Amino acid sequence: MPTDRLTLADVLAAAAAIRGQADGTPLVPSQIPGLGQEMLLKLETTQPMGAFKLRGALNALAALPPDAPGVVCCSTGNHGRAIAYAARQRGMRAVVCMSALVPEAKVVGIRALGAEVRIIGRSQDDAAEESLRLVVAEGLVEIPPFDDARVIAGQGTVGLEIMAARPDLTTLLVPLSGGGLAAGVALAAKTIKPDLRIIGVSMDRGAAMQASLAAGHPVAVTEYPSLADSLGGGIGLENRHTFAICRDLLDEVVLVSEAAIRDAMQALFTHDRMVAEGGAVVGLAAVLTGAVALTGPSATILTGRNTDMATFADIVAGRDLNIGDIFLKGRQHGA
Ligand SMILES: *Cc1c(COP(=O)(O)O)cnc(C)c1O
Repeated sequence: MPTDRLTLADVLAAAAAIRGQADGTPLVPSQIPGLGQEMLLKLETTQPMGAFKLRGALNALAALPPDAPGVVCCSTGNHGRAIAYAARQRGMRAVVCMSALVPEAKVVGIRALGAEVRIIGRSQDDAAEESLRLVVAEGLVEIPPFDDARVIAGQGTVGLEIMAARPDLTTLLVPLSGGGLAAGVALAAKTIKPDLRIIGVSMDRGAAMQASLAAGHPVAVTEYPSLADSLGGGIGLENRHTFAICRDLLDEVVLVSEAAIRDAMQALFTHDRMVAEGGAVVGLAAVLTGAVALTGPSATILTGRNTDMATFADIVAGRDLNIGDIFLKGRQHGA
């Protein structure tokens, strides 16, 4: 099993590879009432590009020889931006493949980082095919968003930093999609403290890892619009690493509703004056709704800040919200 080869040593090597570039984010206590215990927030929102993904991207690129012809990926979200940024740091060519359905603002943002954008077809599958073609035709190295040993080790450095700062933690809540973050963090944190409780948290519709763990093997799920858009997508039916690590090391996976995500984003801004995207606050949402009860000092990772501004303004103002087919009645937060 490829998983058996990933250890704390890989995460420690990743920490050395990314030192001074994407590490050392703050760990601060939340002031939101009703959390029950001390709840620390690991602020990956303060990363360049606004998400933890830079850790994995930098670690993956650091492993390539300086004369590598370049890298390719087909994520238009936080992974794509991290790859573009990391490639520029290394003076390396980066190509991001995307479908014609991707909003122009995202194309402009990724081009501004110096990456080439290839617009191919009308679906993510078409874009994925083009990226595979570039691997074969031009020798580019594909960097997957989560199911890659170096990416997982890079994301795991978040767990190292949390445990170094607060070895007394009892529960760690980790936003969960493809599981690169949860796998890396669990690998690092559980090696250091085996009795730490690690809970993966996803949105309640289209949670691919949760459905796969329940089935006992990777399964495809339907995607729905969600405030936690960064948590959408499958884990890959040919998953090599993250499924097995999450199966073996996560104590539990909890799902939260769109309303709970909205309320957590609003509470975080109201009480901590922090901006985070929907996918980043699911750990807070799980505690605030009572889905997870804390037993001692705890932490969650605020994974990113790249929220749509108009939606965020509506949430903070307590206005009504439409998320695909879900309607959420406006809700004013106290204070
Ligand atoms: C990618 C991402 C996640 C989920 O990470 P996985 O490694 O896919 O589980 C969570 N939050 C944000 C903001 C992300 O960009």
